[in-house]
Amino acid sequence: MPRPSRRTHSLRRVYVRTPGGRTVIHYEKRKPDYAKCAICKRPLNAVPRERASKLKRMPKSHKRPNRPFGGHLCPECMRREIKERVRKEFPV
Ligand SMILES: [Zn+2]
Repeated sequence: MPRPSRRTHSLRRVYVRTPGGRTVIHYEKRKPDYAKCAICKRPLNAVPRERASKLKRMPKSHKRPNRPFGGHLCPECMRREIKERVRKEFPV
């Protein structure tokens, strides 16, 4: 039986195989929700679903796509947004 503070479903259970062959349970805080597009709310690809402490140890290029609005807009919304801005600035 785990200690009382760990008997909760707000912690996720991670089964870890030790070098000695035992399987032990690690209790970790749950991961945040998927990053979503700011316009259409679809989940974004290539944006890791990790807590800030782990994101801090990752290179910037692993945290979001390397393009304008990467990590904020999905590629379809990004293309539409850029076209709209250009058309607004240079009306034909
Ligand atoms: Zn979108």
